[in-house]
Amino acid sequence: MTKKLFCGAAVIWIASAVLAGSASAVEDGFGNARKVQSEHFAVYYAPELDLSGLIQQLNISPSDELLAGKAIKKGYSLEGELAGMVDTLFTQVCGILDMQLYSFKGTIKICRDSIELNDIYSRFKKSSGKPTRSFYSYENNTVYTSPENFKPVIIGHEIAHAIISHYFVVLPSEKIQELLAQYVEFQLRKSGQ
Ligand SMILES: [Zn+2]
Repeated sequence: MTKKLFCGAAVIWIASAVLAGSASAVEDGFGNARKVQSEHFAVYYAPELDLSGLIQQLNISPSDELLAGKAIKKGYSLEGELAGMVDTLFTQVCGILDMQLYSFKGTIKICRDSIELNDIYSRFKKSSGKPTRSFYSYENNTVYTSPENFKPVIIGHEIAHAIISHYFVVLPSEKIQELLAQYVEFQLRKSGQ
């Protein structure tokens, strides 16, 4: 009886170890990152980065709707300000694409610098091609960027990829997805973002 119980426990332990292993197939090194939670995104940023600097880079005025909601409840803290900005950008991109995803949840990770970003990029894409300013990983529903590229036009482009990948049951071709994301970028640029 005792032996059976022990064997059962061992099987559960091995199974959970295997599951844990497969869940973290690509380790991106964000274990000690700081986190800001908005309605639609968990934003992780490298601990060396300055939150107010990141906010200045993104520089979006939260919409009235958001000011009346979550952002204002957080008392205009830096975290609340960033959360309001990324949710506003998300709402803008949904509007440009005319694809509404009210319950969308995703992740944005801001790497320490472009070296770290490109290191993660080559691990995900499994190639060491051209350097990137940002990318969206379908595998873990995460936008990766570096601090200098944490700008509305660039993050808006990647958020568009996230929205497109969640909106369609059958995904359009990669070319069409890229055209749509570039259209969002164009519209954001036109509106002065
Ligand atoms: Zn793209």
